[in-house]
Amino acid sequence: MDPSPTEVLAQALVDVGSRLHRAGLLPATSGNLSVRRDPDCVLLTASGLDKGRLRPSDLLGFTPEGEALGRMLPRPRDGAALRPSAETALHLQLYRRDPSVGAVLHVHGEAATVLSMVAEGDTLVLTGFELLKALRGVTHHDAQVALPILDNDQDMEALAAQVEARLDAAPGVPGYLLRGHGLYTWGADLAEAERHVEALDFLFRCKLRLRQEGWR
Ligand SMILES: [Zn+2]
Repeated sequence: MDPSPTEVLAQALVDVGSRLHRAGLLPATSGNLSVRRDPDCVLLTASGLDKGRLRPSDLLGFTPEGEALGRMLPRPRDGAALRPSAETALHLQLYRRDPSVGAVLHVHGEAATVLSMVAEGDTLVLTGFELLKALRGVTHHDAQVALPILDNDQDMEALAAQVEARLDAAPGVPGYLLRGHGLYTWGADLAEAERHVEALDFLFRCKLRLRQEGWR
């Protein structure tokens, strides 16, 4: 029997998790990953799972408005109960804000974590790098991509309100940083969101290296 569309999408998300975990961007069960299945359903990784060992059944469904739809694929015999991630609200707000968002990836890379703590101010400006062209809508290395940096907060409602205000003020931005925490980025589909993670992580490492060498 052919896999269902939900199974195909869940497997694609599991594969992204495995690659990003191997790249060191999802250490120690951190981060969370989601994909829009249809206008009324987002599949999102449950809390506390090792992203290098995800299974398609480890995803929970939510409407973009926040209603929990439960496990979207049958629970395996050895499967434990799934808890929603604390950061569910930060994913869902991105799907609500923009119907063109098809996937959201939240990673805890080392470069993003360090840069967000040493950067002055509340914005990280990336410019002059050829790889900026991997970001949606960027066609020139001289483009200025200004990523909002927000102070980390364990109060998700308060944090979501801050994110909303910063994204309203920066239309078209492909992601944001949480200080000492990590990166949120998104795309029209999983492939674009994964490309954004890889490009931004590379740019963060370049930026950090330049800083460490005292060149910028
Ligand atoms: Zn996180």
